[in-house]
Amino acid sequence: MEKSSGIGTLKGIGAKTEQLFHNLGVYTIGDILLHYPKDYDKLPPITPLEEISSCLETTAAIAVRIDKAPFVRAGRNMQVTSLAVKAQDVKAEFVWFRMPYLRNTLKVGEWFVFLGKVAQKGTVFHMEQPQIYTPEKYESMQNCLWPSYPLTAGLKKNRLSQTIRQALEELDLSVDYLPEEVRARHGLAEYNYALENIHFPENETALEQARKRLVFDEFFKFILAAGMQKEQMEEVPNSFVFPPLHMETENPDAKKQEKAWADLVMEELPFCLTEAQKRTLLEIRQDLRGRKVMQRLVQGDVGSGKTIIAFLSMLDAAQAGYQSALMAPTEVLAMQHYQTFTELFERYGLKIPVILLTGSLTAKEKRHVYERMQLYHNAMIIGTHALIQERALYDNLALVITDEQHRFGVKQRETLFLKGSQPHVLVMSATPIPRTLAIILYGDLDISVIDEVPARRLPIKSCVVGKKSRNTSYEFLRKEIAKGRQAYVICPLVEESEGLEAENVTDYAEKIKQEMPGNVVVECLHGKMKSGRKNLIMEQFARNEIQVLVSTTVIEVGVNVPNATVMMIEDAQRFGLAQLHQLRGRVGRGEEQSYCIMVNTTDSDKAKKRLEILNKSNDGFFIAGEDLKLRGPGDFFGIRQSGLLEFRLGDIYQNADLLKLASEEAHLLLEEDRKLERPEHEKIRAEISTYLNRQAEIVNL
Ligand code: ADP
Ligand code: MG
Repeated sequence: MEKSSGIGTLKGIGAKTEQLFHNLGVYTIGDILLHYPKDYDKLPPITPLEEISSCLETTAAIAVRIDKAPFVRAGRNMQVTSLAVKAQDVKAEFVWFRMPYLRNTLKVGEWFVFLGKVAQKGTVFHMEQPQIYTPEKYESMQNCLWPSYPLTAGLKKNRLSQTIRQALEELDLSVDYLPEEVRARHGLAEYNYALENIHFPENETALEQARKRLVFDEFFKFILAAGMQKEQMEEVPNSFVFPPLHMETENPDAKKQEKAWADLVMEELPFCLTEAQKRTLLEIRQDLRGRKVMQRLVQGDVGSGKTIIAFLSMLDAAQAGYQSALMAPTEVLAMQHYQTFTELFERYGLKIPVILLTGSLTAKEKRHVYERMQLYHNAMIIGTHALIQERALYDNLALVITDEQHRFGVKQRETLFLKGSQPHVLVMSATPIPRTLAIILYGDLDISVIDEVPARRLPIKSCVVGKKSRNTSYEFLRKEIAKGRQAYVICPLVEESEGLEAENVTDYAEKIKQEMPGNVVVECLHGKMKSGRKNLIMEQFARNEIQVLVSTTVIEVGVNVPNATVMMIEDAQRFGLAQLHQLRGRVGRGEEQSYCIMVNTTDSDKAKKRLEILNKSNDGFFIAGEDLKLRGPGDFFGIRQSGLLEFRLGDIYQNADLLKLASEEAHLLLEEDRKLERPEHEKIRAEISTYLNRQAEIVNL
């Protein structure tokens, strides 16, 4: 059995269950090992049967001495084993289906602990399918932590942990790619120990060890992969010819004829670029004319206006007679960029072909797109990762921009880079990464920071409310919509999910329809929809044909509908602060006052306090910093900063120390053996190449 074997090759997994795993993004046995628990529970303490009533509706461990043999009867289509027990005047019944052999286990006179959910039927307490332990066994497990996993409808918790157990047992994980001396230097656990204990920790210390190792691995691989890539790309001479930049000191009249399109458009924009935007654009345009090709990261908080920078840079390329490409992480976003660009072209009478290339085009449409790409030497091409996955043909590509870089892996950058004749590369990210960390993570790039948001904007007003204030919130939504505005409502789930008490878009959309006047159009949007449908809904929302969009975090990145002024986030405590900040960034994009309502559906004060950090500031850097302070470095049960780079466990803020260590180790290794060619590095090389292939596959949504 190999990590790359399909999940269906495990015993007991049929086509149906296999599909459920696919819904979770788990395709191979290797994937399931990476399906880390989102939290851990302690086993409940043992409760004597007399006190069972105090455990009603909870999962409890009930200790019982059996005084009557279990009884097996034939149910409708299965055998039912039931065990009646009593202590003083408390009666309970435990029931199992299809397990008649339990008769032999549950012997009269012996003590057992039954673990399950306690229900009540009349005067008798009831447990269905409880797990059975001897008291000794149960006590020995009391320090263990029980994983709870991200689930999907139809896939039970037990089934998932069973499958992971099975995978851990059947795979040979004894080979550790990380050299012994690296492990020894930093006290890192062995790979197989780490995997075993991240899923089924023996105790909290073991979990901490496991996490440390796996987080180290994530950073180490990322940095190694980036470092190896840098090796390949460093110092590529710039063979593209761009006309020289006209500096402001020159006489503008004399040069009118040759004035750059980017400058012309800039003058005509309905707004003035901020100083930070101007500086960034200048840096880019200088790079385009530099000695070597550009490798630049543009960091700018949500709403700082990165799209226009991309546009103006691409315009520069088009004027010089080259193609350029803009790659977005979602189809919705690619579509939106396409529309923004097309509008700008119409407004300024520019005659440059803009081509949209996404994964959902039909074969025929794609052929047409490819033909146009061949035909137009200065086209601006906008798309999703289809841009790189398909054998897209570029005739004359000089500039490649990736929007929301954190959503892409290292591999995507590389592949796109290798297309065409090594174009200039610009990556844009809204992730607020402190400069020191950015240098570690993106050491191969120059960095521009847009540290300023357009001045005219009113800061978004945010509040954290409890469940009880929902009606007030709906009332508020109705008022804003009556004023002609629009609203987003975010739910964590697509559909109802087993074991998860969180709002889902499907049901919520129905619920909120009832709350809105009849003429208000409510629609839902989520990642499982066909992309044609997603695009249609986004377009309708952009045209205000939909007023309330109930969505998952598909709209987290980039979406720009300036008329939307309300962002309501259900179960807000489930999201990372960075993610909430991104979500909130969907409003406050126009001139109207915007609002963000975060619904905290728990009673936890800690959750409330965390969310209130967002009330204090609209600044992504500040938020990330405060989040870190509040959670403290030891608090690894905190919510993951999802959406941040491609780390599953690692958090670049909380684990900044490990990030530094991993970076040092990775660079040490690269200094010694730049391409990891030596025989003793074969295991690492193999691991990195698997890592890169994986990255290519898991572009989010
Ligand atoms: P992000 O940096 O989050 O990608 P966008 O590029 O989507 O932000 O810009 C957000 C909004 O701000 C857009 O509607 C854009 O037209 C507008 N915008 C960009 N730059 C400025 C500016 N200098 N002044 C006013 N509005 C701007
Ligand atoms: Mg953007």
